[in-house]
Amino acid sequence: MQEPAPLTPVQETTLSLLRRSGDALVFDEGFVTHLRDQAEAALAVLSTRLGGETLWVSKGFLARVHGCEVRHLAPDDFAWRPATAAGFVAHKAIELALNWRGEPAPGEVVDEALARLADQADGRGAYVAGLTDGELAELRSRAVDRTTKFLQDFPPLPLSAHPVLEAAAKWRPPGTIELSGKVDLVVGRPAGRESRLLIIDFKSGGHSPFHRDDLRFYALVQTMRQGVPPRKLVTYYLDYSESEVEDVTEGALEAALARTLDGIERHIELTAEGREPLKKVGVACRWCPLQSECAEGTAFVRGDDPEAEPDL
Ligand code: SF4
Repeated sequence: MQEPAPLTPVQETTLSLLRRSGDALVFDEGFVTHLRDQAEAALAVLSTRLGGETLWVSKGFLARVHGCEVRHLAPDDFAWRPATAAGFVAHKAIELALNWRGEPAPGEVVDEALARLADQADGRGAYVAGLTDGELAELRSRAVDRTTKFLQDFPPLPLSAHPVLEAAAKWRPPGTIELSGKVDLVVGRPAGRESRLLIIDFKSGGHSPFHRDDLRFYALVQTMRQGVPPRKLVTYYLDYSESEVEDVTEGALEAALARTLDGIERHIELTAEGREPLKKVGVACRWCPLQSECAEGTAFVRGDDPEAEPDL
């Protein structure tokens, strides 16, 4: 059998950040039960205020409602582009690479991933199947870049660690509000009440405080559905080979619940209860479809709004 390749310095550094140090982490059972009771009670009240409407709450929903409220209320104009689709293609390629016989070449697993995705009967499949040659070339190039960086710089993942790519978690308490999260990678096997799961998101760009909020929200959903909080939250920056790591704590889970409930309440005020939305000028104005009709956003993008949020 072939010897595994020695770890590179950057793989060693990342591995040391992800490893468990000290005793096993076990959250107080009473804390988890209380957090769940608190969440269920608050979501039942918020469901009533929604007046029967079903609401799916995701990390994207929370980022939008805590950002510019005018933008939050605008119709959703999301459409896949090579820059945004590269993530799911690379995740599929990495999933194949983890199970590949022999040493996988990034281009090879990306091509296989694209072929499989094009056969998928969903929005992603339809997008990949309908690409022009130029779009396909751009998407392939971006996905190969992400896959190569992951395979070369992230520590190898043994299948015995139960790695799951694009891991989804949902929680539906009584009422009409459902929480759902998805992260790029979950690693670890449950064992009784011990917190073992590592939650990992990969990012192509630079740091943003929203990345931590996204992971905390996933940790909350995972805690609600499994009754056991994860161990660590990791944002891994592919271009920099750097990790931002946060240990899951009672405080982090309480903060995630407070932000989630606050976001849902804002949405209800704006939709069911008719409150006027507030504009929040910031870096997101650059990609806002309403920018051409928004004087504040246009001024910010031109660089002449001294009150605006600084760039992140
Ligand atoms: S341009 Fe900026 S301030 Fe204006 S609606 Fe869009 S996000 Fe809000």
